[in-house]
Amino acid sequence: MFNALVVNKDEDGKTHAEVTRIGLDDLPHGEVTVAVEYSTVNYKDGLCIGPGGGLVRKYPHVPGIDFAGTVESSDDARYKAGDKVVLTGWRVGEAHWGGYSQKARVNADWLVPLPDGLDTRQAMAVGTAGLTAMLSVMALEDHGIKSGPVLVCGAAGGVGSVATAILASLGHEVAAVTGRPEMADYLKSLGATQIVARDEINETVKRPLEGETWGGCIDAVGGAMLARVLGQMQYGASVAAVGLAGGAGLPATVIPFLLRGVNLLGIDSVLQPYDNRLRAWARIAKDLPMDKLEAMVQPAKLTDLPRLGGEILKGQVKGRVVVDVN
Ligand code: NDP
Repeated sequence: MFNALVVNKDEDGKTHAEVTRIGLDDLPHGEVTVAVEYSTVNYKDGLCIGPGGGLVRKYPHVPGIDFAGTVESSDDARYKAGDKVVLTGWRVGEAHWGGYSQKARVNADWLVPLPDGLDTRQAMAVGTAGLTAMLSVMALEDHGIKSGPVLVCGAAGGVGSVATAILASLGHEVAAVTGRPEMADYLKSLGATQIVARDEINETVKRPLEGETWGGCIDAVGGAMLARVLGQMQYGASVAAVGLAGGAGLPATVIPFLLRGVNLLGIDSVLQPYDNRLRAWARIAKDLPMDKLEAMVQPAKLTDLPRLGGEILKGQVKGRVVVDVN
């Protein structure tokens, strides 16, 4: 028997999450059983620990969209007992039981080998949020980052913190948008050179084009902020749209696309092909300074997750949570 955070749904539709003892027979089918060492907390985890957000279809449920650990047994030739592995995405922790458990059973296709240069704790300090930040940087690079500062929206959160640190270490000037002025020193320590107050940029678009300011943008916020930013991009610059922490709408005009050749690049981490995942993890090991990653980390245990799940939905988590499930 081992510990897992199990979410149940009452008859009145309310969910509640509790650390519970379960056994190997309770785990779903899959080719690889992993002794989980670390997991983390992403925005989606907040939804799956709490109200479900339409992501969880069946209860009882074990959330945790990411985990890293050691293979305990495998029916797939690609993995053997003792291998260190990482899992992000593939709807694990949503449709399939996830990483908030001392053991997890998953399909071999969903795993990647632990990247060279990272341990399992560091891999979870990165997690889906950090992988997505790197996928965003790679997408911006593929389309060309212009000379102006690169804007990061939702900067003090998980995606934003890792994006800020990577961009700065690659030599880009980083402007960090935050709604929490007390995060300014933290964001500067990650490499941001400019702090932009959320209120300054969160207003509804009044003019479709403003001054050409940003050489690129990684946006975890969406909504009015993304719409506004589109009109502030330099000619031919790109915005990587990652998240919807501020809303799923996009109250924008098409003018920035037509008159400035601005690119809006969609980023999905869940179904990323295997080769691109490996490429992104290798870039993380090379371009994300590990001291900066460590500065983002807030350690946690399985019992902290109900509280942290609520906090991340309110935008109150700083940087990256690393959950030691043991
Ligand atoms: P976090 O909660 O850690 O970060 C989100 C940040 O957005 C907050 O810290 C806050 O930053 C800012 N924010 C929160 N609420 C608002 C608001 N109402 N208006 C403006 N800004 C706000 O979450 P993650 O970094 O884990 O995820 C960020 C987003 O990216 C989520 O929407 C998530 O679902 C999405 N995502 C998408 C992925 C993909 O594959 N496309 C993968 C991973 C995440 P600050 O306090 O600095 O203002």
